Amino acid sequence: LVSRSHKSEDTIIRVKHAEFGGTSHVTIAGPCSIESREQLLTVAAALKNAGVTVLRGGAFKPRTSPYEFQGLGVEGLKIMKEAADEIGMVSISEIMSPSQIDTAARYVDIFQIGARNMQNFELLKAVGQSGKPVLLKRGLSATLEEFILAAEYILYNGNNQVMLIERGIRTFEKWTRNTLDISAVPLLKQETHLPVLVDVSHSAGRKDILLSCAKAALAAGADGIMVEVHPNPQAALSDAKQQLNIDEFDTFWKGLRHSGLFK
Ligand code: PEP
Ligand code: MN
Repeated sequence: LVSRSHKSEDTIIRVKHAEFGGTSHVTIAGPCSIESREQLLTVAAALKNAGVTVLRGGAFKPRTSPYEFQGLGVEGLKIMKEAADEIGMVSISEIMSPSQIDTAARYVDIFQIGARNMQNFELLKAVGQSGKPVLLKRGLSATLEEFILAAEYILYNGNNQVMLIERGIRTFEKWTRNTLDISAVPLLKQETHLPVLVDVSHSAGRKDILLSCAKAALAAGADGIMVEVHPNPQAALSDAKQQLNIDEFDTFWKGLRHSGLFK
């Protein structure tokens, strides 16, 4: 169902005023985790002002250690809805279990399935039945075939509003958190009809090369990018090293928009 041989034309997913896979690029930006009302509203206002349409922020956080910040849960989703409605943005947040679907559906526009849950098959089936748009992240060590088949689960279960996002894979390289597999972009575009995005923040795990990674993503044919932005990254409760502050985001954003690649 996801393959180009099944459907040759590009799938365009419209969520409120955002369009994925259409004629213009889409940017998803926001903090790694929703930490407070003030934090999210501050960053949302700056992003909206810059022209970003989709606001991200995690409420259910998949953390490596159980001692790390686990997210604000439903409280966080309520903050997300308030910020997105007040500022006029489309919202996206991660869900980790089928049991979170009904609640999360009341507060967010798009469900994110994180890298760690790319092959959580019960979750894939459940979001398939939910009818909400889904952003599916590539697993930490998933091949493109496994990634595509994970998306197939969602379509097979009745939901064709699926977007794919490359977020770097595990390799021996340590200078980046993950290795951005840029070849995934043309391959996913060639093999599927779904929108394809690139998460530069989780790929690189550092701030200094994000603009180059984003330009590479657009040059390779991506339909958009994801980038983490926090009003005060040093104090962030997760992913402090890779989140841009608002000034850094403005520089990044101008660089990308003036690159001649952004449409
Ligand atoms: C995220 O985007 O919030 C996240 C946890 O990323 P990933 O699942 O790609 O690690
Ligand atoms: Mn993060």
